[in-house]
Amino acid sequence: MREILYPLVNVDVKTLIAVLFWGNLVSVVLVFSYRLFSSRHITDRVLAAHFILGKAFQCAAYFFLFFRNALPDLLSVNLGNTLLMIGFYWEALAMMTIIKITGKKTHRLVTMIMIISVVVFNAVEAARPDSSLRVITASFCVFAMLIAPNIWLICSKDPSNFKKLIGCFYSVVLVLLLPRIVYAMFHHVDILTNFLIQTMTFLALAMLMIFSLPAYILLMKEDSDLAIITLATTDALTGLPNRHFFLDSAERVFNRHRGEGSPLALIFWDIDHFKKINDAHGHVFGDSVLVRLGAIVRESLRAVDLACRYGGEEFIALLPKADAVIAEKVAKRIMEQIAKSSFPQHPEFSFTASIGITDGVPNPDDTLEDFIKQADAAMYEAKNAGRNRIAKSPAGKIPENEIKCK
Ligand code: GH3
Ligand code: MG
Ligand code: MG
Repeated sequence: MREILYPLVNVDVKTLIAVLFWGNLVSVVLVFSYRLFSSRHITDRVLAAHFILGKAFQCAAYFFLFFRNALPDLLSVNLGNTLLMIGFYWEALAMMTIIKITGKKTHRLVTMIMIISVVVFNAVEAARPDSSLRVITASFCVFAMLIAPNIWLICSKDPSNFKKLIGCFYSVVLVLLLPRIVYAMFHHVDILTNFLIQTMTFLALAMLMIFSLPAYILLMKEDSDLAIITLATTDALTGLPNRHFFLDSAERVFNRHRGEGSPLALIFWDIDHFKKINDAHGHVFGDSVLVRLGAIVRESLRAVDLACRYGGEEFIALLPKADAVIAEKVAKRIMEQIAKSSFPQHPEFSFTASIGITDGVPNPDDTLEDFIKQADAAMYEAKNAGRNRIAKSPAGKIPENEIKCK
C-alpha cells in the first residue's frame, strides 16, 4: 500500500507551485469571461469579484514564489508572501459572501488580520531572514486569516450541503498547515523543500483550486437558479404553489395513496361573486382578497398538506391520510377565518366562498383528475345551494355530466 500511495503524494513542490500558478491564472480568466459574457442576473457579482481578486493575487504570488533563489528575496520572499496573504484575504471574503456575512464589523476583523499578517511577516523577515521561520510565519498567517471564515462556512445555518463541502475542502488545507508549522520548528526547510507535510499541503491547495473553480461558478448562479425555480413553481400573487407544481406534487402523493390503499381528501374553494368584488372595488382590491384567502389556506393546513391557487379565484388543497370529516373541519375553520377577515381599505367589506370536499381511498383505476372533478362538482353543488357553504361529494362518484378521462 505504502509503495503505491507514497509516490502519489511524493510530488515535487516546485512543480505543484507551477500548477498552482497556471491553475489560478485559468480560474481568473474563466470566471472573468463567465462574468463578462453571462447575463447580469446569472452571476453574483460580489462573489465573482472576490473570487477573481483572490485567484489573481494568488497567481501573482505563486509566480514570485516559483522563482525563489532566482529572483532577489525582496520579490520572491517579501512580495510573493505578501501577495499570497492578500490573495487568501480575498478568498476569505469570497467564503463570507457565500454565506452572506456582509457585516462591516466582520469584514473589518478579517481585514485587520490580513494587515497584521502582512506587517508581522515582513517584520519577522526583516529581523531574522530564516527560511524555516518564514514557513512558520507564512503558514500561521494564512491559517489565522482563513480559520474564522472557514468555521462560519461549515457551521452556517445555510441548508446547502454543497457550501459546507467547500468549507470541508478549505479545512483540509488549514489542518495540514499546523503540522507544517511544527515540522518547520524542528527542521531546516524552505518553501521549495520536498517533505511530506509540505507536499501534502500544496497538493491540498491544488485540489482546492481545481474544486473551487466549478464550485464557485455554480454558487454564483445558485441564487438566480433558486429565483427561477421559485418563479416556475409559485403563484406570484399569493405565494402559494402554482397549479403546475401542485399537480406535479399531488400526483405523486395520490399514486402513493393508491398503492398503499390509504384515504385522502381534497378541498376546492371558489370565492363567491368575485367578479362583483372586482367591479365594485377594483382589481387591485380583488387581488388583496385573493392574497388574504391564500394566507388563510396556508396557515390553516398541516405541513404535509398540499395547496395551490388553482385558477383565478379558485384554490385547492390535498390532505394526505385524511377523510371528509377532517377535511370538513379544516374547511369550516377556513370559513370562520374568511368571515373574520377585515380590510382597512373597505371596513364594511366581507366575502364568502363555496367549498367542495371529496375523499376516499383511490381505486386502482382512479386518477387525481377524477378526485379534482368530484371536489369541483361538490363546489358547484354548494354554489347551487346558495353559496357560502360546504358540500361533499361521495368517494368514487363522478358527476354524470363529466367525462372520465384517464
Ligand atoms: P361565482 O360566485 O359563481 O363563483 O361568481 P364569480 O364572479 O366569482 O365567478 P366568475 O367566474 O364569473 O368570475 C371570476 C372573476 O375572477 C373574473 C375574473 O376577472 C376574476 N379574476 C380572475 N383572476 C383574477 C386575479 O388574479 N385578480 C383579480 N382581481 N381578479 C381575477
Ligand atoms: Mg371560479
Ligand atoms: Mg367565484
